[in-house]
Parts: sequence; C-alpha cells; structure tokens
Amino acid sequence: VFQLSVPLNFLGSVYRELRQSLLDMETLFNLQKVNVSIKEKPDAKPLALPKGGEIRFDNVTFGYYPDQPILRNLTVTIPAGKKVAVVGPSGCGKSTLLRLLFRSYEVDAGRIFVDDQDIRDVQIESLRRAIGVVPQDTPLFNDTVEHNIRYGNLDAPPEQVIAAAKRAHIHEKITTWRDGYQTKVGERGLMISGGEKQRLAVSRLILKDPPLLFFDEATSALDTHTEQALMQNINSILRDKARTSVFVAHRLRTIYDADLIIVLREGSVVETGNHRELMERNGLYADLWMAQEISSLIPDFPTTSVIC
Ligand code: ATP
Repeated sequence: VFQLSVPLNFLGSVYRELRQSLLDMETLFNLQKVNVSIKEKPDAKPLALPKGGEIRFDNVTFGYYPDQPILRNLTVTIPAGKKVAVVGPSGCGKSTLLRLLFRSYEVDAGRIFVDDQDIRDVQIESLRRAIGVVPQDTPLFNDTVEHNIRYGNLDAPPEQVIAAAKRAHIHEKITTWRDGYQTKVGERGLMISGGEKQRLAVSRLILKDPPLLFFDEATSALDTHTEQALMQNINSILRDKARTSVFVAHRLRTIYDADLIIVLREGSVVETGNHRELMERNGLYADLWMAQEISSLIPDFPTTSVIC
C-alpha cells in the first residue's frame, strides 16, 4: 500500500498544482484531453456569443471545502465588450471567480451564465476555447520562444507572432536573445524573468484573440514604466475589438480606468462602479486606493490592514 500511495500522492499534488493554474488547465485539456470530475451534459451545445460575451454570476456560492465557503451568494454581471476589474483584499476569492467560469471547479449553488447560457449546459471545450487567461505565473514550454507564443494560435504565420510580441512589449527583448525567436526557454534553455514570462503570456493571448480575456495579476512582475506601456497597448486592443476583459489586480493604478470595478470582500460583492463613483462612495475601494497612494509615498506604510 505504501509503495502505491506515494506515487499516487505525488500525482495528486501535481494534479492539484495543475488544477490551480488556469493556463495549465488549458494546456492539459487542449493537448492531452484529460478528463476530470467536471462532467459535460450529453446534450451540451457549443457556446454561442450573440451578445459578445456577457458574464453573469447569479447567487453563486462556492468553497474548496464544504464547510468553508469562499464565495457567498455572489451576484454580479460583467457586461460584454467592457473592461472590468475585480479588486479586494487578498484571499477574497478573486481568482476563484475565474476558476469557476473556466469550469475548473463546479459551483455549490447558483449559476454562471455566458450570454444567457448556463455554463453547465455548454460544451466545455467550446467554453474554454472562448476564454484566454494570463495567469499570475505563466508556465512556459521547454521549447523555442516562437513556439511558446504560437501556442496561442498554432496556425499563425511568423509575422503575426512578431506583431503579437511587439504589442506585448517583448519583441525588442527577444531580439537580444542569442537565437532570437528560436531561442529555447525553460529548464535547459534561457532562464527568463517573471516580467518577460508575463509579456510572453500576453503575446500568446494576443495571438489567440479569444472573446473573453482574463488577466490575473498579469503585470505584477513588471516595473511601473513597462506596466504602463503594456497596459496602454492592451487597452487599445480591447477598445478596437470590444473584447470582454476582466482584470484581477492588486495595484489599483493599473485598473482605475476600467468601465466597471467590482469590489469583493469575504466572498461577496460589496461595491460596484467606476473609479470616480467608488471614490465618492468612500467605502472599501476608497480605503484600498488611499492606502496604496500613501504606501507609494511612504514605503513602510502597512497596506495589508484589510484582509478577507
Ligand atoms: P489574492 O488576491 O491573494 O490572489 P484572491 O482574492 O484571488 O487572493 P483566491 O485565490 O480566489 O483569492 O482564494 C480565495 C481563498 O480560497 C483563499 O483563502 C485561498 O487560500 C483559498 N484557496 C484557493 N485555492 C484553493 C484550493 N485549491 N484549495 C483550497 N483552498 C483554496
């Protein structure tokens, strides 16, 4: 039993790690078609997007463990074609929202709709194909830079790969690497920084060009200047294509221009509005904003006073 349980435990932990990372989930499903406990209905239809990608959480309750709900009766609509931010203290369930939408986990109660279709009624692959994610930590393949970007769209010609890298502010950097786009990354190749990884992930997403885009702390490893330049490019892409985009962000300066900001606390929505409206409201968002402003002036100022 011992001999058997060790590898199984090991596989279990690898599986949990993979499950945690949305991009790995994409990799796992798209490349290996591995099935997990999430079941597709026999009469499931492909996801259709007649409204352009409106996402609606309706009274959603969810916990990783039955007695520990992370989201509690959460109801919120993410309008199609808009830039939306989800903010709130650490551990409130922001990334969990993305995992539920991706159907990495099943809701305990309530429903999630994309353009009025309950996501449990649609073909899982079509749902996941419609969603692109730049996660907090991007896993890269042990392969060339070009392949790592092209994974977003295997048919893309080289000039599209380069155009995507330019928009993600990583092209210049790539040209300094020994073999340019043919440089190998990963364990046996070039070791690249967290910020470079994030920009490769953004290139991949630009190339994939899905209707629903998620950025989960996607620019957290970048310096302020690069982050601002990249955000400008991302914003212009979103505006041109009217994509539904959701940004999970700690640094509120990266999302203050969002059309809608959803503020979570203890698994529920406590405030919604744009930056101006939320500042006027003087609630949790205004507190978080002020704390970040002060901490940018006084580095030792405690900003983690509010946690879930
Ligand atoms: P942060 O801002 O720190 O990234 P978050 O608001 O995105 O946090 P989540 O990652 O959604 O929070 O996690 C919400 C809660 O669920 C946290 O308490 C976290 O520890 C817990 N949690 C997340 N993933 C799992 C998991 N796979 N199993 C058990 N608990 C989990």
